[in-house]
Amino acid sequence: MNQNRVGQRRGGLRLWVLLLFAGYAVWYWVSNRSIDPVTGEPVVIDKNISTEQEKSLGLQAYQQVLRQEQPLPANAPVSRQVRGIAERLIASIPQVTDALAAEHGLQANHIEKSFDWAVTVLQSDQVNAFCLPGGKIAVYTGLLPVAQNPDAIAVVMGHEIAHALLRHGAQRMTRGKLEQLGQVAGAASGMDSGTLQSVMSAYGYGSALPYARKQEVQADELGLMLAASACFDPQASVPLWQRMDQTSAGNAPPEFASTHPSAGSRIQDLQHLMPKALAYRAKFCGEAATAGGMR
Ligand SMILES: [Zn+2]
Repeated sequence: MNQNRVGQRRGGLRLWVLLLFAGYAVWYWVSNRSIDPVTGEPVVIDKNISTEQEKSLGLQAYQQVLRQEQPLPANAPVSRQVRGIAERLIASIPQVTDALAAEHGLQANHIEKSFDWAVTVLQSDQVNAFCLPGGKIAVYTGLLPVAQNPDAIAVVMGHEIAHALLRHGAQRMTRGKLEQLGQVAGAASGMDSGTLQSVMSAYGYGSALPYARKQEVQADELGLMLAASACFDPQASVPLWQRMDQTSAGNAPPEFASTHPSAGSRIQDLQHLMPKALAYRAKFCGEAATAGGMR
């Protein structure tokens, strides 16, 4: 066997690794793909990531945050107010997700039935809020002066609850799994890390942003419908995101600036959604109040 032939075989082997990975990636993508009934859009969530697993991860993360931050007592006036807003939003989830799914000729999966909701206000200057899988919600006191009113707080919380309902975390985990495997395959094929990075980013991988633009748009829509249906004023969303944008100009707060669409395009999208939000308000406001709240 001469040198030249050995070299060729090695090259062949490398290509095989990439082809194998590409084949696996396609199979993985297709076999884990489904249509989200609420958005009507395709999603890829690894079937091995169960909602229970996500929920326990959410709980662990929540407990850690509560240890690290300064939670306000549950009976503090602000805690009561924020919890009251959350209860109304949560109560509107069944009707809103049913109605949105029906628009796509589908049925909502009612993932919220498996949630154990909890709401905590954290004493912090951060302009932030989140809802972890399983329904663990936190609102930072720094958000309140920017939000200014319960309607705007409801818009932000609705948006965060929507991320959890739409399993955006599991979608990111799925992407992360494939991305890791791609890196291993790339390294095994002898591709240098620079080339690998550019190939990955060409396919939209390797993004450091916590939420993709598409997920933000989806969370805005579902969140706005939840807020409107729970009798909050969806029109509070436009000035809210304008204030948020001004706040984030100097120092970018976690969930709402660099990771989120620019205020301009977001506000346009929201204005586009407004007639629908007002229709949902007219239809569901009132029903939600009697549907029961948090455990
Ligand atoms: Zn978001």
